[in-house]
Amino acid sequence: MRTEQDNSKNYGELLRTLQWQEKRKQILKRDNYQCRNCGSAHGLEVHHRQYHKIKRINDFRKPWAYHDSNLVTLCSRCHQVGHKKFTVPVFNV
Ligand SMILES: [Zn+2]
Ligand SMILES: [Zn+2]
Repeated sequence: MRTEQDNSKNYGELLRTLQWQEKRKQILKRDNYQCRNCGSAHGLEVHHRQYHKIKRINDFRKPWAYHDSNLVTLCSRCHQVGHKKFTVPVFNV
């Protein structure tokens, strides 16, 4: 049985991959190393505006496989606040 904890652990592992590190760098550079919400340059993270569940493989798209327009740079503070306020929409694709 897959628990929620297992899923978030797997997701954490995906975010430690080289693929994600490269994508993350690209997005940070595009956003001039600033939080797109408050302009802070500290504790920057890259947030997914939406998640895609791919029918064909019955699994989520890999974090680095999203189009750049679905990714946005946020500082850790805005990121946490954002996740409390909003749920990331999941699209079946
Ligand atoms: Zn911020
Ligand atoms: Zn996020």
